[in-house]
Amino acid sequence: MGAMTVRARFAPSPTGLLHIGSARTALFNYLFARHHGGEFLLRIEDTDRERSTAAATEVIIEGLRWLGITPDQPPVFQSTRMARHAEVARQMLAAGHAYQCFCTAEELRQMRERALAEGRSPRYDGRWRDRDPAEAPLGISPSIRLKAPRDGDTVVEDLVQGTVRVGNAELDDMIILRSDGTPTYNHSVVVDDHDMGITHVIRGDDHLTNTFRQVQIYQAMGWDLPRFAHIPLIHGADGAKLSKRHGAVSALEFREQGYLPEALCNYLMRLGWGHGDAEVISSEEAIRLFDLDGVGRAPSRMDYAKLTNLNGIYIRHADDNRLTRDVLERLAHRTDLALGANAAKRIRALVPALKERAKTLVDLADAAAFLARPLPLPMEPKAASLLTPEARLMLRDVAGALAAAEFTPPAIDATLRAFAESSGRKLGQVAQPLRVALTGSTASPGIDVTLAALGKEEALARLAAVA
Ligand code: GLU
Repeated sequence: MGAMTVRARFAPSPTGLLHIGSARTALFNYLFARHHGGEFLLRIEDTDRERSTAAATEVIIEGLRWLGITPDQPPVFQSTRMARHAEVARQMLAAGHAYQCFCTAEELRQMRERALAEGRSPRYDGRWRDRDPAEAPLGISPSIRLKAPRDGDTVVEDLVQGTVRVGNAELDDMIILRSDGTPTYNHSVVVDDHDMGITHVIRGDDHLTNTFRQVQIYQAMGWDLPRFAHIPLIHGADGAKLSKRHGAVSALEFREQGYLPEALCNYLMRLGWGHGDAEVISSEEAIRLFDLDGVGRAPSRMDYAKLTNLNGIYIRHADDNRLTRDVLERLAHRTDLALGANAAKRIRALVPALKERAKTLVDLADAAAFLARPLPLPMEPKAASLLTPEARLMLRDVAGALAAAEFTPPAIDATLRAFAESSGRKLGQVAQPLRVALTGSTASPGIDVTLAALGKEEALARLAAVA
């Protein structure tokens, strides 16, 4: 890559959500820039003023922040650059690379209809390309069209797709500046990418047809082309383009559903980029390893189950204080819980055991909720049936033994084993009713760690409530 400093960018249009396909595009740009010691920039393509609300922009910025895909500079807002886009269009006009078109909307409509009726694709026929503007009808403000090459091909040496080309005869003279003075999409993108010094344009392969048009604008301006890399889109398991009906598609929806951002990034990175068999790749390693030669040409398929498994691995390795904070946040709105300092302490104590089985933070919060329940505990039906009169009597005796125990997992374990032995029971016959009384359910981490996390006072209160 020589001495050139890599500058990549993510250029979302604020549509109201950060689609995970877009998030992956952002991630690839980010990793590519970091890998090459370059810069990663963000441009908000907010020229559609109706859709581009502040809230829609915020969703993107928040999604990127959550994922840790942080740009190196404040975002560029495309809408603020319209005067510059118009200026470049006028330069092209002055240089003879563009021309004014005085067609009326009605004329263009007729041109379209004729082409369609004759089975041709509806292209502008170039009628003002070589015409003297002095012949312009009065009262029509012209649009500015690119004087595109008519012969030969426009070629893109794509870093993922290889050489792709289109015959110039296929492309008409596109409008770069509308008659109302507003720039068109492809023109704005080129001017912005050029002015931002973008060296690599990495984006979804649905933009490939735009790229041919954009290349023509670079060439008309005599600007260096960036390198292009068009990455295949993400599909659902059925092979159709990923959409809501496959599952979550927006980054913040995954957050709600309890995915860790680094697990989602790890999964997205591996989706369409291959590196041996390694599934778990830290963000530092990702930066070290990522490059475009590992990006395949086939669409990748989103596998939610695989993501969830990976998330479970990340949860098991996550910091306990962080997980506790997240659990407390997720439980904060629940009116059936009493989430005071004591409950927080219990949750923190049991998180190391709970995280072993949680696949999502939602699972983790659900599994921790019993620690914050006020008494009497609601009982799952299956659990309630274990609290027979005989079990309740036994629990009274167990409570007596526990009252005298030191409340650490090993001491609790020893106490319960001694109790089981002296009363002629198996440990499970003691532990299971105990678990039900303490948790309201038949599943929890080991009874010793569960008891220790509750603490003696709370544990005995829970036993007293049923015994
Ligand atoms: N704004 C375009 C989009 O959201 C991306 C444009 C680009 O990357 O060049 O699809």
